[in-house]
Amino acid sequence: MVLFGQTLEQLQVLCLDEGFPKFTARQLCDWMYKKRVNDFDSMTNLSLKIRARLNEIATVGRTAPIDCQTSVDGTKKYLFSCGSESSNNTQSLSDNTQFVESVFIPTSDRATLCISCQRGCKMGCRFCVTGKQGFHGSLTAADILNQLFEVDAQVSPAQDVKQSGIQTITNVVYMGMGEPMDNYEAVKQSVEVLTADWGLGWSPQRITVSTVGIIPTLRRLLDEMRCHVAVSLHNPFPEEREEIMPVERAYPITDVIKLLRQYDWHGQRRISFEYIMFRGQNDDIRHAAALTSLLRGLPCRVNLIRFHTSPDMPFRTSSDITIDNFCNYLNNHGIICTIRASRGEDIMAACGLLAGKSKTETSIE
Ligand code: SF4
Repeated sequence: MVLFGQTLEQLQVLCLDEGFPKFTARQLCDWMYKKRVNDFDSMTNLSLKIRARLNEIATVGRTAPIDCQTSVDGTKKYLFSCGSESSNNTQSLSDNTQFVESVFIPTSDRATLCISCQRGCKMGCRFCVTGKQGFHGSLTAADILNQLFEVDAQVSPAQDVKQSGIQTITNVVYMGMGEPMDNYEAVKQSVEVLTADWGLGWSPQRITVSTVGIIPTLRRLLDEMRCHVAVSLHNPFPEEREEIMPVERAYPITDVIKLLRQYDWHGQRRISFEYIMFRGQNDDIRHAAALTSLLRGLPCRVNLIRFHTSPDMPFRTSSDITIDNFCNYLNNHGIICTIRASRGEDIMAACGLLAGKSKTETSIE
């Protein structure tokens, strides 16, 4: 049994079952989440008897990344083995179905970690390398949080982070492999550990959860969590969006926007829309005008993203001038719009390129 990733309440149940004092659960949280200890023997305020019993029935369960690549721009991509099938470490690196990737993106004033929540993805977005892989399983809350704790342990003492004045990961975005709203319970549990006073105690404003717009779980997220939300939009016309995002059939973007309009976005929580610019497909003024009408009156931001070309993809990125014109149109028509800087493209760490592959494999392609 893995204890890392469990909530205070879950640990209290375990302690009750084992006949441990109830406060042991808080002590476990303190050691695992605040002191970031990965073995019971180091938890010195637990009795020897409790430590011995925990060693019999459980592990803390954090696991180090098995690969790391560094981009020329300082972005780092980490590879993690996830899922019970891979826990014996006999999994071949060429079988990428057992791996997920996390991307560490340092800038001058923050250090963001983009984390994965599934091995592969069911959503099948046509422009996404993860989507092409198919679905191979959902991560547990422990698997999700493990990415943050392990990357933080590696980058915190590193010179590149110290130089920017940032000693630790400051923000987390659930924008890696997988669809967070298709693994809702694990995502919610991981956010609880990040934000609870017995966990990391983060403000929810340091967390952004992305989604293609799976309405039932998106509604739960909006009701149950306070973190920022990013919706992958990519085309304002339903029939065109459906061609690149099959989810449009089940959950039309117009219904997603209708749902979002029911919530107050004037306070701390922000809604943003991700819009990848595909040359000749979604980048003309007709699209910009339709996007403006779709979002009119909703306090939000649109992030334009250059498409990162990968082998076998029938898409190309829009030209810089087209992206600038699109951005200006939106800003001139009352929609706040920015162009997202591309990071880590040389190590296949940029948006839509995560495939769960080691350095060796990436270089073979
Ligand atoms: S873009 Fe996101 S939701 Fe779509 S296939 Fe890729 S990982 Fe899944």
